[in-house]
Amino acid sequence: MASIFGHIAASAAFGYTCFPKEVRATTLLLAGGLAFAPDLDVLAFHFGIPYGSQWGHRGWTHSLVFTILLGLLTGLIFNYLQKNKSRHHPSKIILWFILSAVSHPLLDMLTNGGRGCALWWPFDATRIFFPWNPIAVSPLGAAAFFSEWGLKVLLSEFFWIGLPALGLVMLGKLFRRA
Ligand SMILES: [Zn+2]
Repeated sequence: MASIFGHIAASAAFGYTCFPKEVRATTLLLAGGLAFAPDLDVLAFHFGIPYGSQWGHRGWTHSLVFTILLGLLTGLIFNYLQKNKSRHHPSKIILWFILSAVSHPLLDMLTNGGRGCALWWPFDATRIFFPWNPIAVSPLGAAAFFSEWGLKVLLSEFFWIGLPALGLVMLGKLFRRA
């Protein structure tokens, strides 16, 4: 995993850049939750499901099929609940939520440790990475995060996720002004 901070930064950057009119506290929170949600699969370890299993960490929850469906479903439910009382653009909300969820496995595939993601599950459960892995992998336990390792992860994510995310938001602002 990238850390929770990296995933949430990416989802917020998508919102502020591509869907600024849809950005609210609730939508930011939901997009951030979606960007982090695939890592709830670490619970699988508690049920004795091994890392390498398609049902284990970075398995089915880190696939395009699962993340697209997760974003789509959350967007549909959100739009349904907001019906008549929101100025949100329903299809933009759905797109933002899907992008946020899908960004999770893509960022994980840029990390330098653990197993790759089963991006093509259920068609192919092979764990894959991108050929370039600049992001320091985040430890699995919260306790391990408060260590030198955690600090390294935050620094690496600041460079490889935080700065590009900030750049994206600023670029979006410039484009809208122009
Ligand atoms: Zn992950």
